[in-house]
Amino acid sequence: MKCPACGNVLQGMTVADVSVDVCRGGCGGIWFDDHELRKFDEPHDAAGEALLDVQRNPNVHVDLRRKRHCPKCRNPVLTRRLFNARRHVEIDECPDCAGVWLDYGELGTIRHSDGSEQEHQKATEEYLQEVLGPDFAAEPAHGVLDARHRMSHVLRFLTPRHRFWH
Ligand SMILES: [Zn+2]
Ligand SMILES: [Zn+2]
Repeated sequence: MKCPACGNVLQGMTVADVSVDVCRGGCGGIWFDDHELRKFDEPHDAAGEALLDVQRNPNVHVDLRRKRHCPKCRNPVLTRRLFNARRHVEIDECPDCAGVWLDYGELGTIRHSDGSEQEHQKATEEYLQEVLGPDFAAEPAHGVLDARHRMSHVLRFLTPRHRFWH
C-alpha cells in the first residue's frame, strides 16, 4: 500500500497483535484498518506508545490541503473529520472501509489531548493556521504576531478547555 500523504510505500508493523501500516522513512504517518485505532487511542493502551515515534524523513512535507485517497480501496477520497468533540484532532477516514489515516504526531495528540497547556496552545496554533492560512503563521510581521496573540486569546475564551480539550 502507498502512503496517502506522501506516496512512500507503507510498511507493516505489528503492535500488540494488531498490524498497522506505517510510513517509515517517509512522512511518519500511520494507517489503521477499521477499528484498529480504538486499541491505541487512550493513554492507558500502553501498546500505542510504540507507534508514537515512527521514524520519518524530516525532509518530507505533507500538504494537508491535498485530497488523499484510501491506500486500501484506492479510489475513495478520505474524509477529514474531528476525532471527536473532546479530542480536537483531525483524522482522515475512508468512507468505504472505515480505515483511518493519522499524520505524524496525531496519535500522540489524541492519546494525550487532555494533557498540557503547551499542547492546547499547539492545537490552537494549528487551528489558526488552518483557518487563516499558512502565510498568517509563517514569518509573522509585528502587527500580525500581535493579532495572532489576540486571536488565540479570543479562541481560548470561545473554547474553554473543559469543553473541548478534555
Ligand atoms: Zn507518508
Ligand atoms: Zn478504504
